[in-house]
Amino acid sequence: MPSLSETQKQVEGYDKKHGWDEDKPSHIVLHMSEELGEISRRILRNEGYKKEDFDPKELGMELTDLLYLTLKLANSFDIRLEDEWNKMWERYKTKTNRS
Ligand SMILES: [Mg+2]
Repeated sequence: MPSLSETQKQVEGYDKKHGWDEDKPSHIVLHMSEELGEISRRILRNEGYKKEDFDPKELGMELTDLLYLTLKLANSFDIRLEDEWNKMWERYKTKTNRS
């Protein structure tokens, strides 16, 4: 599996190839909301609130859609998520509660 940094570069290349690298951040966030709704629906199915079949593969696909958009949004602002992840993880190592 590629690193997060490599994956973010894949997204950048893919979006440039399709002319999607100039998408407005506000539109990306709207799409993220849409994907979060799709994730929510799968979770509601899993818990029986929605009377529809739950397929963990579908949940995996929706989570990945959201990851793609997260990387895409980060690219819009030249944020390197692997660096941010590593900084966050350093902070989390010393965390003792959820606040
Ligand atoms: Mg989706």
